[in-house]
Amino acid sequence: MASSSVRTLVDRVAVVTASTKGIGFAIARRLGLDGAKVIVSSRKSKNVEEAVLALQLEGIEASGVVAHVGNKDDRKRLFDYTLGKHGKMDILVSNAAANPHYGDLMTITDSQWDKLMQINVTSAFQLAQEAIPHLETSGHGNLVFVASVAGFQPIQGLGAYSIMKSALIGLSKNLALAVAHRNVRVNAIAPGIIRTDFSKTLIEDPLKHNDIIKRIPLGRIGEAEETAGAVSFLVSDESSYLTGETISVNGGMESRM
Ligand code: NAP
Repeated sequence: MASSSVRTLVDRVAVVTASTKGIGFAIARRLGLDGAKVIVSSRKSKNVEEAVLALQLEGIEASGVVAHVGNKDDRKRLFDYTLGKHGKMDILVSNAAANPHYGDLMTITDSQWDKLMQINVTSAFQLAQEAIPHLETSGHGNLVFVASVAGFQPIQGLGAYSIMKSALIGLSKNLALAVAHRNVRVNAIAPGIIRTDFSKTLIEDPLKHNDIIKRIPLGRIGEAEETAGAVSFLVSDESSYLTGETISVNGGMESRM
């Protein structure tokens, strides 16, 4: 969707992880259209180059770094690059996730569980821990985690992923409490079913698709761009008294713990 006519994020520097396609890219684009200087990142340099170019073609001040969120050196490079280029970091959107297991929760292997925990929870925390001092210096520090409706309501076949997203919502709330006195706000969004490569197998199976649609009061799958406005709001001064919150962006699907 289009940016607001008032550019609420001018002079802000925003880092978005896992942002070369899908929801992360849509968020980076929206923050850029709202005036922020954006740094995109993901694991593959070709994807980073293409995303940066696409954003620059829209007039967005964008640059990018290769960064696997599970790798400490990569996370350091991402922040060093941002601080070297712009001298500060005001916004961090932590968006990366993995889902190596689909099916009966009881069949998950140790290595699948470890990967889910490592990327979806541990790395998200470590990224935040490393970013907080920089966000504190900004004076407008904002951190947003991309959680999921699955973190509120179990989704059949996505048990372990749902558990990790519940943990991420808990992480977001606890971190908000821990860093409020440092003038850093921490919030999350919980998207519903959004059309991206990540959700392709769910959406493209006609049976599952029909089941999903029945659970969505708005009666359709969401588009990645439709998640980005909530993030733009959460990182702007429009939400200056809002922290520890999770905004559901899910077409009205039930979302409660
Ligand atoms: P997507 O379209 O598949 O995009 C994934 C992005 O993440 C790509 O840019 C990918 O680029 C990057 N990436 C993957 N693993 C990474 C890692 N370890 N480190 C850094 N970058 C990584 O996925 P999406 O649907 O937009 O999902 C984004 C987030 O939204 C996830 O947290 C997901 O759980 C959440 N979500 C999605 C939905 C949905 O229905 N789609 C619903 C609720 C929540 P490279 O391959 O170059 O690394």
